[in-house]
Amino acid sequence: MIRAVGFDLDNTLIDFMRFKEETAEAAAKAMVEAGLDEDPSILAEQIFEVYDEYGIEYQKTIGSLLWEKQGIRDFREFERIQQAGIVGYQRRKFQSLKTYPEVKPTLKKLNEKLNRSIYIITDAPRNKAWQRMYITGLYPYLKTEHVFTLDKTNERKPSPKPFEAFLEETMFKPEEVLYIGDSLERDVKGASRAGLKTALAKYGQIQQKKIEEKPDYVLENFKEILEIV
Ligand SMILES: [Mg+2]
Repeated sequence: MIRAVGFDLDNTLIDFMRFKEETAEAAAKAMVEAGLDEDPSILAEQIFEVYDEYGIEYQKTIGSLLWEKQGIRDFREFERIQQAGIVGYQRRKFQSLKTYPEVKPTLKKLNEKLNRSIYIITDAPRNKAWQRMYITGLYPYLKTEHVFTLDKTNERKPSPKPFEAFLEETMFKPEEVLYIGDSLERDVKGASRAGLKTALAKYGQIQQKKIEEKPDYVLENFKEILEIV
């Protein structure tokens, strides 16, 4: 019997890809308005090329774009357009970072079923995880007395360590916990290594690589979790 549910954050509860797309468009538009001579849709594509190269959480994306993709070597110009892009991104961030539409009403029902045993187990650092929970308004739906972030073990999924730390702290048995994430390679693999039940958030999957890992459940829509728990 499932007594607790753990969630990955990005692309599972939060529509992270849409957020990245909208903020890339806003940053591109701001740089063009600041005088960068390029088509904004090409700039937005180049932002994603930087993400592909350095990771989606890379903190110097606009700088890399201007230096590597646009070849800007005049530092005064570089700084000015870079800051325009960063401000464009930041302004948009607070409107664009949202949960999938079904998430909050479903978590409300799930909380009633599980007596508030809904947790976050994420690879995001603690400050980023909290920032995202505040911006999206997710935190009232979660058991935030225990938030499991990268800082807890300093090991990333698919390491079983973050899940073992969760079990140790909450005292649940592995088979009593269902973990939901969008990555077969990280979420499903890591959680099943620690003996948890797993569900794949198929609606949040970006690329479908061929991976042996088999989740116990597959969610086409977030709401379907109510049929499992
Ligand atoms: Mg994810």
